[in-house]
Amino acid sequence: MKRLLEGYARFSAEVFPKQARLFQDLAHSQRPSTLFITCSDSRVVPDMILQSNPGDLFICRNAGNIVPSYGEIHGGVSATIEYAVMAVGVENIIVCGHSDCGAMKAVLSGKKHEHMPTVDSWLQNAHSARQVLESQSGIHVEGNAPKTHAEMLRALTRANVVGQLQHLRTHPSVAAGLSRGKLNLYGWVYEIHTGKIQNFNSHQGRFFDLTGHSVPSPVAQPQLHLMAS
Ligand SMILES: [Zn+2]
Repeated sequence: MKRLLEGYARFSAEVFPKQARLFQDLAHSQRPSTLFITCSDSRVVPDMILQSNPGDLFICRNAGNIVPSYGEIHGGVSATIEYAVMAVGVENIIVCGHSDCGAMKAVLSGKKHEHMPTVDSWLQNAHSARQVLESQSGIHVEGNAPKTHAEMLRALTRANVVGQLQHLRTHPSVAAGLSRGKLNLYGWVYEIHTGKIQNFNSHQGRFFDLTGHSVPSPVAQPQLHLMAS
């Protein structure tokens, strides 16, 4: 806690005064272009990875960067999406998973966590990713998998991003925005140990390294070929 308070003191004394104009401009309105949905994991820091400023990203975080299908849970994620699209008017929605994700490890293990019933219930929203993984790898993840655990986790993390993009489309505000051509969806996975982002290319059904120099095509109807790479 002490370190956090020291950080706040430095922000107040040094950082805020240097950007006082920006904060003044943002005092009564915001126009972020992008809703960024990612995991709660402390190692994923969107504003650092994208070098974005206050006012740039509308951020929604939860365990496993999950988007429940519309109507299943009228919770914070659904409300944030609706508000971002209808009131804030974002043009892009990025679902960003990450390497070494605890939520994905839990889904991959398939184990019940009796002391964390809420987590178990929440992670049911990622179960389709596990089924995709099982069907596309031709093996049961609990069996004697020929793939390493790391490969399976990477594949599951990707499948989860694609699955959550599909859930996003069930939200009426997103469906409407897509039909009007006013909204672009993207699926990313951030790699903690390299700092690189892989972007989902829905035309090829694969993830490719994102470059900082060209805007990737937004996701069309997502279909992932997990074992293609
Ligand atoms: Zn995570």
